[in-house]
Amino acid sequence: MAQKLAAGNWKMNGTEASLAEIDAMLAAYPDPGCGVLICPPATLLERMSRRIGRGKIATGAQDCHMNANGAHTGDISAEMIKDAGGAYAIVGHSERRTDHGETNEIVNAKAQAAIGAGLVAVVCLGETLEQRDAGETLDLVGSQLAGSIPDGATGENLVVAYEPVWAIGTGRIPTMEQIIEVHDFMRARLVERFGAEIGKSISLLYGGSVKPSNAAEIFAVENVDGALVGGASLKAADFGAIIDALQ
Ligand code: PGA
Repeated sequence: MAQKLAAGNWKMNGTEASLAEIDAMLAAYPDPGCGVLICPPATLLERMSRRIGRGKIATGAQDCHMNANGAHTGDISAEMIKDAGGAYAIVGHSERRTDHGETNEIVNAKAQAAIGAGLVAVVCLGETLEQRDAGETLDLVGSQLAGSIPDGATGENLVVAYEPVWAIGTGRIPTMEQIIEVHDFMRARLVERFGAEIGKSISLLYGGSVKPSNAAEIFAVENVDGALVGGASLKAADFGAIIDALQ
């Protein structure tokens, strides 16, 4: 059985003052009935991890470098993320695929680096509106899944997030039929590649305009094990309502 996970991606948002949201979350969810993860900007990762201490909320990074260390100005390695208290690294978010030209090969190498350092890699994938309109969604998701996920992935070291690019930050979400189709497809591909036991243990998150008002409907889908939440993860009240819908 895949773990249920509510994951927050703060993107390029947050300063010291934002840590008050974590205090509110810790007070409201001392022992959440599902996995809870927050990925703040790198500048806040260590502070947030310390603030949480032994609490039951995990932290992670929004990216990591594919190399262990070296001359890569401005980059952060998986080992450094772990050292800062992080347990997860998001890799291959569509904003990084677009802004930084990250290919499936690069995402695969980053996922390997994250897993090698003892982190859980949250591999993101999803189609653009043009690709959906052209009927290419499953082909695209299939090739991103095959190309971005390294061999050796398990339910313990990998989470997959399906995030249609056109649903991110837009307030639009796919129909439930569309989410069912893609999530069933991803589950089948993972079972095909890794076998039933591992394939069924990998958490499949949906991401893109998840809000308190639509979370319950999305979580009712069989192969949706949680969500990767952007905007609505910034406020404890909104993210808390999403956690409530999941646990
Ligand atoms: P959103 O972002 O919830 O603000 O749409 C989701 C994401 O990009 O992970």
